[in-house]
Amino acid sequence: MRGSVAGGPRFHGISCNTFRMELPIAIRDQPLPYVERLERRPLQAIDLVVIHCTELPDLATARAYGERRVHPSGTGNSGHYYVDRDGTVLRYVPDDRVAHHVRDCNEHSIGIELVNTGRWPDWFDSRRQVMTEPYPEAQIEALLALVAHLRTMLPNLCSIAGHEELDAAMVAASDDATRQVRRKLDPGPMFPWARVLTACGLHRLTGSPRSL
Ligand SMILES: [Zn+2]
Repeated sequence: MRGSVAGGPRFHGISCNTFRMELPIAIRDQPLPYVERLERRPLQAIDLVVIHCTELPDLATARAYGERRVHPSGTGNSGHYYVDRDGTVLRYVPDDRVAHHVRDCNEHSIGIELVNTGRWPDWFDSRRQVMTEPYPEAQIEALLALVAHLRTMLPNLCSIAGHEELDAAMVAASDDATRQVRRKLDPGPMFPWARVLTACGLHRLTGSPRSL
């Protein structure tokens, strides 16, 4: 599926095909084929942004993963928004639908996926658990603009967390079944938390991540 908005997505102030003019960010609507099967919710139910990275090489691969139908309901796993390395922002799931992006917190959260290689393609290799790809400036700027936009749309949005803080499940390492590695590590140590927290105005959720 191709974007429906012409022009540079990073230009502030351009219109997009869903919202009115004068928005600070351009969002390309590319709904996943199963969005109508995702549970509806009121926007008032949303109080949390969860930051992810795709742990995949590029946006096209992330889209392919998002389109996979892996649940009995005929839906799959994805974030609501994807932010590419160049700052392009895409919406795969509308805010008023529950996306499957984090255990236990889906009903009241928005998932934002940043395209980043992460541990790909050896997610669970115990020798490859260091995430080294930086998040480019354009990507972080677009993320901040997106969060600022969401704060204007979602009246109860107050918190932000990394996926790694909400899901601490361990899995057997792919190279050595006697060892365990984290199932989720995103967005990882390269994510500029201090800068994002200063700019976004949301409270970072801390506390013990859930372990299964
Ligand atoms: Zn994640």
